[in-house]
Amino acid sequence: MLLLDGKKLADELKNEIAQEVEQLKAKGAKTPHLAAILVGNDGGSLTYVGHKVKSCEQVGFKSTLLHFEDNITEEFLLGEVKKLNEDNDIDGFIVQLPLPKHINPDKVIMSIDPKKDVDGFHPVNVGKVTLGLPAYVSATPLGITKILERYNIETSGKHCVVIGRSNIVGRPMSILMSGQSKTGNATVTVCHSKTKNLKEITLQGDIIIAALGKPEFLTGDMVKEGAVVIDVGTTRVADTTTKSGWRLKGDVKFSEVSPKCHAITPVPGGVGPMTVVSLLLNTLKAAKNEV
Ligand code: NAP
Repeated sequence: MLLLDGKKLADELKNEIAQEVEQLKAKGAKTPHLAAILVGNDGGSLTYVGHKVKSCEQVGFKSTLLHFEDNITEEFLLGEVKKLNEDNDIDGFIVQLPLPKHINPDKVIMSIDPKKDVDGFHPVNVGKVTLGLPAYVSATPLGITKILERYNIETSGKHCVVIGRSNIVGRPMSILMSGQSKTGNATVTVCHSKTKNLKEITLQGDIIIAALGKPEFLTGDMVKEGAVVIDVGTTRVADTTTKSGWRLKGDVKFSEVSPKCHAITPVPGGVGPMTVVSLLLNTLKAAKNEV
């Protein structure tokens, strides 16, 4: 069984990005600059944004964190987005989701300049990705394609089963896997909560991408021998033995599934670190005006 080590790969990619930043600076280019807007104090969001800012420092990017209280108005937030759109020093920025209930996330995403939308959530980027045009691919799907690419996982002609159809993971992943690219050309089945006989479908999967957010949902009896399994799930489950009182669980029952696999990502240390590094890759693209 091959462990698809996202942490190790993310470190390698960060080194490559850092080297490229050095070369750009040596040629007189400006330092790539990523900004993040965080609204409120949700524990998960604080952690994710913290990782993103720290990763920027590691590769030599500039980063700016705009942290607002959760009682700000939608109008105020749209004004902050506009300022970042117009700030020439900012190459790309993200608005960390989820937002407080009184703020419409679609409206906020639509207000981001697609050229600075390094999360790849704006419909212009989603549409371009669907058409196979140069665009920002959202971070988690991009991270997964990097894992497949760097570990030389054959996807062409394979049956890929994606569990989950969210706009940020399942849906874009299904589009990328069926697209005409080095990590595409698969025959894709998308499953969701209304799918019947899910096990019959997952048993046909040469590649299974589990992105449903149900801890240890995919069990050994649902996977065929030699499958490649990508576990996107990250659910915090209570654990009194850890300092924080919780630990991350994936959507795959690793102890049962991994012995059957040709290759599998762990949780933690699989897709998660690759998501952060993909945001850096998109920011570098933005700094080089490649989108
Ligand atoms: P989401 O928006 O809640 O979507 C979950 C999807 O799973 C939905 O399409 C849902 O179907 C489907 N689903 C739910 N129960 C199912 C079941 N029993 N059988 C089949 N399909 C089922 O979640 P998400 O944002 O895509 O995230 C999924 C997981 O990935 C979460 O654990 C999240 O924390 C994690 N995640 C990790 C990263 C990372 O960097 N590692 C990034 C993003 C997300 P319906 O559409 O029918 O409701």
